[in-house]
Amino acid sequence: MSDTALNRSQERTSPEPIRPLTAASDVASLWRSVLPTGAEEASARRRLQAKAGLIGLVFIISYGVLVLSHLAWPIRTAAAAGIVVAVIAIGTGIMHDANHGAFARRRWVNQALSYTSDALGASSWLWRIQHHKLHHANTNVVGLDGDISLAPLARLAPSQPWRPWYRAQHIYIWPFYGFMAIKNLLVSDIVALATRRLGGQPLGRPVTAGVVAKITAGKVVHFGWAVALPLLFNPWWAVLAFYVACSWVAGSVLAVVFQLAHCVDTTEFPDAVGDRRRDEFVLHQLRTTCDIDSPSPVVGPFFRWLVGGLDHQVVHHLSPRLPHTLYPALAQRFRDQCQQQGVAYRVHPGVWPAIRSHARWLRQMGVSTAGASGGPSCG
Ligand SMILES: [Zn+2]
Repeated sequence: MSDTALNRSQERTSPEPIRPLTAASDVASLWRSVLPTGAEEASARRRLQAKAGLIGLVFIISYGVLVLSHLAWPIRTAAAAGIVVAVIAIGTGIMHDANHGAFARRRWVNQALSYTSDALGASSWLWRIQHHKLHHANTNVVGLDGDISLAPLARLAPSQPWRPWYRAQHIYIWPFYGFMAIKNLLVSDIVALATRRLGGQPLGRPVTAGVVAKITAGKVVHFGWAVALPLLFNPWWAVLAFYVACSWVAGSVLAVVFQLAHCVDTTEFPDAVGDRRRDEFVLHQLRTTCDIDSPSPVVGPFFRWLVGGLDHQVVHHLSPRLPHTLYPALAQRFRDQCQQQGVAYRVHPGVWPAIRSHARWLRQMGVSTAGASGGPSCG
C-alpha cells in the first residue's frame, strides 16, 4: 500500500490521529482478530447447503419443463431463464465452494460436489490448479496468475506486452468473455492436457490415465445432459441455439464478475519478486482485490445471491475454506477494522461502477505501454 493511499484512507475514515498499520504482521493480526467463531461458521454452512438445495430444485424443475415438456412457450421461456440462473448459481455457489473444501466439513461431500465443474463443462482437476495454485496464491502477478493472461486477446496488466489492437480492447472484449466457458470446454482443457501446461505454467502434477479418464467422463456427462438428452425431445436448431446462448450468458457473468475483483483501476499488479507468503499474504490480497457493494434494494440481494461469494473476494482470498454465506458479515467486520486502523480496503460502490472501473482499466492498458502499478484506493 502506498503512503498516499494510506493518508487518503486516514483522512476519510477518522478525524482523530490514528496509529497507521503498515507492518504486514499488524494487518495479518487484524485479519485474524475478525475470524468467525465455530458457531458462526456452522450456521453459515447450513445456509449454504440450504441455498444449494434451492439451486438444485430450480435447475431440475427448469430442465424438466424446458427439455421434456411441451408446455406453452412463455412457461418454457421462463424455464430457460431458470436454467441460466441455476447454472450460474451452481458455478458461484456450489462448485466454487466445494472445490475450495468450503461446502461441507466432510471431505467426500466437497469432493463429490467439486464434479459439478466437470458437469458444467470445465475439468475440476484443471480448474483447481488454475484457481488455487496460480490465481489464489499469486493474485495479479504477471506470469503466474493465469486469470490475467488473455494474450493475444487482451492486455490486463502494465508489464504485459502491448499490441496495436489492444487500443480497442475496452470495446471488443465484452462479447468474448461470454465464450470463455465454451473455450474451456472445447479447447483449454484439452490443450492443457496435451502440453502439460496451464496459464503458461507447468501443471506440477502427473497427468495419469485416471486423470484423463475423469476429464473425458466429465465432458461426456456435460454433453449428455446439455445436448444429447435435449436432442431426443427437441429440434436440433433449438437445442444448439439454447446451448450457445446459455453458455454465453453464464460465461459472461462468471468471467466479468471475476474480472471486477482484480482487473480494475483500483487494484495493483505487484512484481513476482515481491513477498506474498505468510503475513505478507493479507497485504497482497488487499492490494490486488476489490469487493463490490450491492446497495440497490432490488438488484442488490439478487446479485449477491447469484454471484455467491464473488462480490466479497477480499475475504474469500484470505479464507477460501469458509462458506461464502459468511462473507458479507465477515467482510463488514474486516472493512470496519481496516478503516479504523487506516488500512486501505478496496470496494466498488456498486455493480455499475465496478463495470466502469474494469472498462477504464482496459482502456488504460490498451492505449499505453507505460507501466502503472495500480490506481487509487477506493475503500
Ligand atoms: Zn476461489
